[in-house]
Amino acid sequence: MPTRTTPGFTGPGQSTARSLASGAAQRGRLGRSLLVHGPREAGAGAFVDDLLALLLCEDPDLRLRPCNGCRGCRDARARVHPDLVVGSPAIWRESRTGGESIVAAARRWLMEASGAPVVADRRIVLIEDADAASEQAQNALLKALEEPNPRQMFVLTATDPGRLLPTIRSRCQALRLGPVPREELVGWLMDSEHLPADQAQMVAVISRGMAGAAQAYARNPESLAWRRRVQGELLALLGGGRAARFAAARELVADAAARADAGNEPLPARGDDETAGRAAPATAQQRAGALLVLDAWIDLARDLVVVAAGRSPLASAGEVLDGLEAAGRRLSAATAARSVRALERVREGVAGNAAPRLAMSVAMLAWPTIEDAW
Ligand SMILES: [Zn+2]
Repeated sequence: MPTRTTPGFTGPGQSTARSLASGAAQRGRLGRSLLVHGPREAGAGAFVDDLLALLLCEDPDLRLRPCNGCRGCRDARARVHPDLVVGSPAIWRESRTGGESIVAAARRWLMEASGAPVVADRRIVLIEDADAASEQAQNALLKALEEPNPRQMFVLTATDPGRLLPTIRSRCQALRLGPVPREELVGWLMDSEHLPADQAQMVAVISRGMAGAAQAYARNPESLAWRRRVQGELLALLGGGRAARFAAARELVADAAARADAGNEPLPARGDDETAGRAAPATAQQRAGALLVLDAWIDLARDLVVVAAGRSPLASAGEVLDGLEAAGRRLSAATAARSVRALERVREGVAGNAAPRLAMSVAMLAWPTIEDAW
């Protein structure tokens, strides 16, 4: 495959983070600890793969790293490199033995990770979701970061760096991920995920340029059908009364919670941490389900704003959603825009601590009724 032998990063976008990392690597000025952070939907996966290849590439010419042809690059991307150690709060939790606490498991793991490299000149310690670690586990990590060990380098990933200890943040060189330009994401979806052009376009629009969300949609085409069905139901509810809306809110959340639980949905961004992991699973699932529904809902509301303003061709779901045009023309742009803001507030609440089902009822009340909207 040509992408494997052409040197350079192969993931989509992230030009700032990319040039920061490769520029510093070329000049031999890369910090000992890197922090890759960005919203969950931005998908750190492809960027981290590139970064690991950059760090473990064996090409003698620093400017050609990652060369994508050497064993170091291949093993780094496949995450089987002997000098790559991968951990996360979830892995520490899984690896507990006997009555060991997560913090003790984290300490033990960090100790083992500090061993000497086998083939490379340093060991790469990748810690995913570092911000999901408890304060105690983060303190253990901080100790490891502070140890002067030139044969070890850390790569941390986080969706919310604000949940990391400031002392950890200040020790790390930050690489921030964000949305990818539309055309680049479309090209990447066609090359890497083998989507036909029209589908790649649609997925890029729906995922708002977020590569992680786009990849998840590409790999679960069924989730696109689910999303259209949810949006169709919500459109129909513009003409529905209170009772119908509340019943629909309950059903939509239950259905989405089951999907989120089965793991076949692009994960919405939410406040996952150790305490969330201990919460009643029913609530955690409902929260994940409500976020999935709200994401589809907010996109639908945005499309309605666009249609209501008389610019239908720009609406992202316009070509696939029956009734969008008709509904949008019967709403004022101001009403539609108000509903977007209301839904965004509800989403913020659900991503925080609001009770998912109650929040969905609030969202239903904020959803305009076609009759009133004239
Ligand atoms: Zn290489």
